[in-house]
Amino acid sequence: MYRASIALLALLIGWGLASSGASGRDPCPGLPLSERPCVARSELTVNDTHAVRYAVSATESEGVAQILQLVQQSALEEHWAFLPEAGLWIETGLNENATLQVSEVEVDTDYLVALVSHFPRINLYHFHPAGLGADGTIPVGTPLSEVAASDREAVTGAFPGSADMLATFEITWMLEEAEADAEVRHFVISEFGIVEFGPTEAGRRELGAARHQPQAYNHFDLVMVASVRLGSYNVGRLFDEHRDFAVGELIAQLCQQISSPEYRMGYSPMIVRPSWIHDVAVSSTSF
Ligand SMILES: [Zn+2]
Repeated sequence: MYRASIALLALLIGWGLASSGASGRDPCPGLPLSERPCVARSELTVNDTHAVRYAVSATESEGVAQILQLVQQSALEEHWAFLPEAGLWIETGLNENATLQVSEVEVDTDYLVALVSHFPRINLYHFHPAGLGADGTIPVGTPLSEVAASDREAVTGAFPGSADMLATFEITWMLEEAEADAEVRHFVISEFGIVEFGPTEAGRRELGAARHQPQAYNHFDLVMVASVRLGSYNVGRLFDEHRDFAVGELIAQLCQQISSPEYRMGYSPMIVRPSWIHDVAVSSTSF
């Protein structure tokens, strides 16, 4: 009975939203239809209801600034597609959930494939909440010698998780399948800044060629390399060997260790650049 009432309520909410959308101006002009009605908002927010899909008209840097706020405020993650041609952010996250140590969000890949047919250039963003696995936040300018041993692994929150990396392979294959000539880039925002990640051009070619026999491609090896580099042994070793590094320099170093001709990670601290940042440019991407 309880379940039936909830289902009925969800139906009524869906019907109400759909009909109000139909009667008014389309809040998301040019976007593909989806079963979740599109609702315009003034700022990016975390939405874990799945009843609607939020869209925000903003530049890329305005949206990134808003996500940096959410990093500090929200324990739940969210995922968006930024459409450079439309100056629009559209929610593409599913199944957001969080515990004290772990937070995750899935990508709505069906909607993403529909989006790509309308907008061939898409930048995908999600964020990792601040303070996970640490006693408070850690500014990127903090010398490694001042980071408590128990907080060291929190620095890996700057990086995509294994599921985030696997999603880049899945999305590459889905775009190949849809024969979409698209440029999709992947970014994760954390308290430490932005890391761009994903297969390189050469990696995408290899992935595309292997899509009918995924066992022939080494994408699991790439995830394994990242997992080992971000594991407590390697991170602890870097902390001990580079005690004069700042946290941001360590993140840039790890990006270089993980990157290969097939897969790349690049880091931008997204803060006013202090003097020590000069060599991070080696690894940073152009935003
Ligand atoms: Zn993630």
